[in-house]
Amino acid sequence: MKLVKLIANLGYGSRKDVSSMFREGRITDPDGEVLYADDKVAHEHIRVDDEPLDPPIGLTLMMNKPLGVTCSRKDAGRVVYDLLPLRYRMRDPVLSSVGRLDRETSGLLLFTDDGALLHRIISPRAQVSKVYEATLAQDLRGDEAALFASGSMMLESEKEPLAPAQLQVLEPRRARLTMIEGRYHQVRRMFAAVGNHVETLHRVSVGGLTLGDLPLGEWRALDANDVALLF
Ligand code: URA
Repeated sequence: MKLVKLIANLGYGSRKDVSSMFREGRITDPDGEVLYADDKVAHEHIRVDDEPLDPPIGLTLMMNKPLGVTCSRKDAGRVVYDLLPLRYRMRDPVLSSVGRLDRETSGLLLFTDDGALLHRIISPRAQVSKVYEATLAQDLRGDEAALFASGSMMLESEKEPLAPAQLQVLEPRRARLTMIEGRYHQVRRMFAAVGNHVETLHRVSVGGLTLGDLPLGEWRALDANDVALLF
């Protein structure tokens, strides 16, 4: 790919803007030598304003989503995209969250610009498990695990029963739920259906990928080994 298109696709500006950046000598190699638009240079040897070029297209990252931000692009309030570098919003193809977490849910949220990967992760056929920890307003009754695992639990206004999900009781009002689906507000609705109320909800893992020591509100790019852990 031509350098102007490559850099423009990373969100640095229009092709016209990037052509100007070349003319202004802002695009260099690691030794500070000015690069020209028709040079053939590997991605990792390109610097813009003396900073390494952003990661190439094919970017997947995970965030430890904090509370109070939505996964929508259109929300007038704070959105998860505000926590990423500004330029990441201008990339082509776009970087999207893989599914959504509610505003008041924290934890592991993936983003990718790879549409095929996104569909593979969210497809129930891929059976990628998501693990949530919930704290509840009431003590668990004791029959929830069997119902959630039954494969016949129906949620209001849904036509299909829920796929089996595994509930592990951690404390009378704290539980870990492992499931492969991602229906709208699913965890909150499952607990509401058994007369309870989710007070806090945190996603701890997707497939074999966990947050590790990633602090709330922070993100990191995933490498091929991390992505392989998802499946
Ligand atoms: N289930 C929910 O209810 N909310 C989330 O954010 C994720 C799963």
